[in-house]
Amino acid sequence: MDNSEILEKRNTHLFPTKVPYYQTPLQLVRAKGSLVWDENGEEYLDAIGGIVSISVGHNHPKVISKMKDMIAEDAIQHTTYLYLSKYMPELAEKLANEAPGDLQKCYLTNSGSEANEMAIMAARNYTGSQNVISLRHSYHGGTNVPLSLCGHGTWKFKSQPQSSISHAQAPYCYRCPFNKERGSCKLECANDIKDVIETTTSGQVAAVIIEPIMGVGGFIDAPTEYHSKVFDIIKSFGGLYISDEVQTGVGRTGENFFAIDDSNITPDIITMAKGLGSGAPIGALIAKPEIADSLKGKLHFNTFGGDPYQSMQASTVIDIIKEEELIKNAKEQGSYLKDSLNEMKKEFPIIGDVRGRGLLLGIEMVKDPITKEIAPQETAKLMDLTKDEKLLLGKGGLYGNIIRLAPSLTITRKECDQLLNRFANALRKL
Ligand code: PMP
Repeated sequence: MDNSEILEKRNTHLFPTKVPYYQTPLQLVRAKGSLVWDENGEEYLDAIGGIVSISVGHNHPKVISKMKDMIAEDAIQHTTYLYLSKYMPELAEKLANEAPGDLQKCYLTNSGSEANEMAIMAARNYTGSQNVISLRHSYHGGTNVPLSLCGHGTWKFKSQPQSSISHAQAPYCYRCPFNKERGSCKLECANDIKDVIETTTSGQVAAVIIEPIMGVGGFIDAPTEYHSKVFDIIKSFGGLYISDEVQTGVGRTGENFFAIDDSNITPDIITMAKGLGSGAPIGALIAKPEIADSLKGKLHFNTFGGDPYQSMQASTVIDIIKEEELIKNAKEQGSYLKDSLNEMKKEFPIIGDVRGRGLLLGIEMVKDPITKEIAPQETAKLMDLTKDEKLLLGKGGLYGNIIRLAPSLTITRKECDQLLNRFANALRKL
């Protein structure tokens, strides 16, 4: 099917909320490792991986071979929780081995939104409180409660109900809401959570939910101490700390399997999806046993969560990350990319800020590095120019002026150099 036919069918039969990237949208038909191909056989370096979902490369041979084995054996494709199958508990056990502290009870879902729905329900059930605190500029998913948690007007609808959720200021150091400088502030943004609890709730809270690095918000990377300070604050009010690791999880930040470990705290619940399946539709939450057990006596069902193929893929992804030492690679290649991008600031003053950890890197585009005036039109143009250079990047931030880089954790040094060259060429054309 050619692109105009696809677009016509999309426009006729899909909701208009599904907006493709690029002025002339791109059709992708084939993929391997860090590379993808369009319908004409043109090759692109994929530095965004769907959206932060390809963790072990597209079509990793180990995943493909296990899928082929399952197909050859007529392995059951769908079981639901109601029957026994080895895949689901195997994955849960592997996640428990990677999770910090005593987090050991999993719920497997189809997406990150569903994982966050379940996390909030569990937190409310466990604490008996309704109030949840999230951050402005955060993104937690497209279903009811997660959309209400989001701190982006662009993702809110006029029909959006929002109850018992309050939004605190984001730890957005480049545009500090308190006009402070990173490194010399008193983490006023963390203290804002205390203020929000005291001024907008009864003082009883179920939880705070925070991304270790705010993904859709533009890879806003708070100092690691921010999270430990927020942890102390939420505990002083009896609430739970939920770490939304849908983007940061499975080693992407280059230090630990879960990025919250970088802050040396044990959250009460971690949610994940995206890179967990490296393309398979699977999400999960892992919680302290007492939180999961507080739901005992009731039934909760999702039809496809933890089905054999998806669970096998996520389990294999975890094995590959360990066998191929991909967390180490994320750190090495990520540091190289970040240093090189910072170096590029000298030639290209449109690069206002380079931030992030491991292979989760954001580049904030500004018209002027002194005034920091946002450059959303230039960012949109740059997206098209990088596509012409055969490089696929992501875009984010409330105003769409942040370029996002999240290549596969398998990216090589040679591919990093290609990425940097192509990005610099596109910037020159801009
Ligand atoms: N949390 C975060 C941090 C996310 O980035 C996303 C998706 N962008 C979600 C939750 C929702 O995940 P999904 O799209 O799989 O529902």
